[in-house]
Amino acid sequence: MSRVIRVNVKNKEISQEQLREEYRFFGGRGLIAKIMTDEVDPSCDPLGAGNKLILCTGLLAGSNIPTAHRLSVGGKSPLTGGIKEANSGGTAAYAIARHGIKAIILEDLPAENDPWQILRIKADGKPELIPADQYVGLNNYALVEKLKERFGNKTSCITIGRAGEWLYRNSSLQVTDFSVGYPTRSAARGGLGAIMGSKKIKAIIIEESSSPHSFPYHDKELVQETRKKLVQNTLNNPARQWVMTVGTPALVDRMGATGFMPVRNFSGEIFEKLENISTQVYLKRVEVGGGKNSLPCQPGCILRCSGRINDSEGNFVTSGLEYETIALCGANCDIDDMETIIQIDRLCDDLGVDTIETGVTIGICMEAGKIPWGDSEAALSLIREMMEGTELGRLLGQGAAKVGAAFGVKRIPAVKGQAMSGYDSRNIKGVGVTYATSPMGADHTAGLTMQFGLDPLQKEGQVDASIKAQISSACQDNFVCMFGWGDFTQPDILPNIMKGLYGGDWDMDKIMEIGKETLKLEVAFNKAAGFTEEDNKLPEFFRTMPSPATGSVFDIDKEDLAMALDAL
Ligand code: SF4
Repeated sequence: MSRVIRVNVKNKEISQEQLREEYRFFGGRGLIAKIMTDEVDPSCDPLGAGNKLILCTGLLAGSNIPTAHRLSVGGKSPLTGGIKEANSGGTAAYAIARHGIKAIILEDLPAENDPWQILRIKADGKPELIPADQYVGLNNYALVEKLKERFGNKTSCITIGRAGEWLYRNSSLQVTDFSVGYPTRSAARGGLGAIMGSKKIKAIIIEESSSPHSFPYHDKELVQETRKKLVQNTLNNPARQWVMTVGTPALVDRMGATGFMPVRNFSGEIFEKLENISTQVYLKRVEVGGGKNSLPCQPGCILRCSGRINDSEGNFVTSGLEYETIALCGANCDIDDMETIIQIDRLCDDLGVDTIETGVTIGICMEAGKIPWGDSEAALSLIREMMEGTELGRLLGQGAAKVGAAFGVKRIPAVKGQAMSGYDSRNIKGVGVTYATSPMGADHTAGLTMQFGLDPLQKEGQVDASIKAQISSACQDNFVCMFGWGDFTQPDILPNIMKGLYGGDWDMDKIMEIGKETLKLEVAFNKAAGFTEEDNKLPEFFRTMPSPATGSVFDIDKEDLAMALDAL
């Protein structure tokens, strides 16, 4: 499980090496932080020759532990200018692990007139570059259909649509989903699709291994025994039921009622039309045309938070519709029509753009008076502008912060150039601290603080809670999907899995050190890239405009934010 494949896109050479020993106990986000620190000049142009695109698996990949097969993608973000990791479900990480591959690194830049390429991992595990010119201009659905026709239905695909080709800074990498087979899983945040586009790699395809690699277990029995316990704990854990039965749309009602959910470009209001996009509405919509809930996005997931949404004729429309998409492309745009949100999700996956960045961008366009609030058709037309690559579309593809500045909008909910995800920082202040200080920019996966039971409006304790949450999130991103993480952190679970997989002594303190080290490396990378304490802040309107829902402003001391992660 330790092969690293390097592809030099300039001279088209592919080399292979063993994973360095000092990287052995880093996976996913942590491994990306290590490689970026060692190999990428933090001052490089994110779309230039010095940046790398790194794709890798987590520390448990290749084992039979549930949710062990997230695909982490990283590089210097074209959106934030800092280090970035985004991870995705789907089939790719499992397929990569079955080939005994830990990481794929794309390096350098092709010459301007060089053709587009596909990186193919063949069934025998050998990597090769093949011409891709016939696929240029395709969006993700058509591209994956053609790739599967040619390379077989079991081939896993990591692809970019036109957005990645055109170097949109909101562009994603899309990954084929395990249950539905379509490119619906996204490494969405930070514009990493544009790095792949800059290297003129249209797709990475992984054929099913003809001689699957098995994990070199240190103590397989211990892993099996612990796995059994973990599965039981997870299935019986009341805190996991909403994930298993509904998925993240279960959050809509609670986040909407508390003022956490962004409404009309982070106005801080409560969405008075919440019932039209509620969890129940989502669940009813899933039933249409034989749609389904509780589906796994990757092989072996027992949490199964995904769902398949069909049209009334039973044709597939989209899957993996998340709370963040409903919040940002719905309430944040004053859109209360689930059908429109579903269409937006489909178009964003097809084009290959982040639904969070897109929802915030549309909200900003509404705030600027470019289209009316709540106008579904106008919102969809903005995405079509991006798809067609019109002048306006190409501006929209640069992300919310750039669009807000271009249109002279005062309220721009972005940190370090990246749009905020589905939490209003005035009403859940710990998440605001995470947004302000995370090296990832304003990300919902960087450290949510609800788990600590603090009053979300109180000032005290939020910085500490955020730091703990950020360490924990950085740690989980080395291992597994975030939704089951709480069950892994029991003292007799993850330490025993690590003992059984790798040998040695493990406890949760030692495991959390991996998260801490990951964060430290990321903070150091960003400092070297030019970020200062001044960048650890929220847009001023969160301090000056009270949320009408609660009367609260974001009032965490600026000095506390400036140095929050310095003491790690
Ligand atoms: S919990 Fe959801 S997102 Fe995570 S691996 Fe399972 S299906 Fe995918």
